[in-house]
Amino acid sequence: MVEDEKYMAEAVAQVLKKNNYSVDLAYNGEDGLDCGLSGIYDIIILDIMLPKMDGISILKELRRNGIETPVILLTARGEVEDKVRGLDSGADDYLAKPFHTDELLARLRALARRKTELINDGILKFGDIKLNPYTLLLVSGNKEAELTLKESQLLELLIKRNGIIVSKENIIEKLWGYDTDAEDNRVEIHVSLLRKKLALVDSDVYIHTVRGAGYVLKTAKDGNQNV
Ligand code: CA
Repeated sequence: MVEDEKYMAEAVAQVLKKNNYSVDLAYNGEDGLDCGLSGIYDIIILDIMLPKMDGISILKELRRNGIETPVILLTARGEVEDKVRGLDSGADDYLAKPFHTDELLARLRALARRKTELINDGILKFGDIKLNPYTLLLVSGNKEAELTLKESQLLELLIKRNGIIVSKENIIEKLWGYDTDAEDNRVEIHVSLLRKKLALVDSDVYIHTVRGAGYVLKTAKDGNQNV
């Protein structure tokens, strides 16, 4: 959520956290853009009037960089022009301030539903594995394993990056949020646990460690091609 009214932003974040969302807050436009460009968020709640960079400019910059994260714009009530400019710039929805958090929660659910339909029931595929992030079930051939939430989030991130190295910092941000004091070795522990689950289902897919850079998902076939 990118919102410079700290008191309001923190109140909304509290409600979202109570509803099982994890939330990071950015209090100015530049920080908001940096967070958005990381590509690790599922939804961005974006205020229009912000210090350093306005919401519409952030939205345009995100879309220009190929970031398709759904965006809910917060507009001033009655500013029809803002709504039109926002939707033209690639916003997925808007909400007029002041709003009731129930309304925001309803919009978030609607956006999550739309996104799920887009990605085909939410099942993620890579090589011979299928991951259902809603049931935490990992399947390969006729074998399956139940993942923990963190293992599933980690695998989801690796699959979505599709062959691009994911840094430990990115993993920490996605699994524990920006404000965390989680350390690198927690990432290592979860990578190690996830490797065991991949072995459990006899998958060809493995997590390759790129020393000093991070992790990338590969299949046994990729490995042979590199030899
Ligand atoms: Ca504002």
